[in-house]
Amino acid sequence: MHFEYCPHCGTKTVLREMGDDGAVPYCEGCRQPLFDMFSTCVLSVVQAPDGKLALIRQSYGQQDYFVGVAGYMKPGETAEQAALREISEEIGIAARNIRFLFSKWHDAKGQLMLCFCAESDETAFRLSGEVSEAKWFTPEEAQHAVRPGSIIEQTVRAANPAKS
Ligand SMILES: [Zn+2]
Repeated sequence: MHFEYCPHCGTKTVLREMGDDGAVPYCEGCRQPLFDMFSTCVLSVVQAPDGKLALIRQSYGQQDYFVGVAGYMKPGETAEQAALREISEEIGIAARNIRFLFSKWHDAKGQLMLCFCAESDETAFRLSGEVSEAKWFTPEEAQHAVRPGSIIEQTVRAANPAKS
């Protein structure tokens, strides 16, 4: 989000040179720079002891492909905490050994995606209302259940570097 108006007081912003950052929107009312803002999301695959990966279908949105467990970060939590919280909320599994894989800019949504793999001994799902289906896939099956070229496809591959 590029601020043409100050989100605090509604004043139209002006561009001000801010050193290495170049021209940045600035509120002369609040006397503060308003750097471009974007959302940061966490995206996870959960791995069972047998190596299978959990993927989901969302109640809303397209149903052709499975996706990972994803959500927005909240203020005050680390990315790892957010990823574990989303896994718990969406599929009812207490995961552990959360491992950061990579980050990726999601151009279409203007979001920064932080991609994780977590482990779990639990294999029984308790789905939230946002999730219509959750399923365990072998790593091979998982690569074909997700949209080709998607960030979740890269996450599935990164979760199993030896198999790709
Ligand atoms: Zn302002």
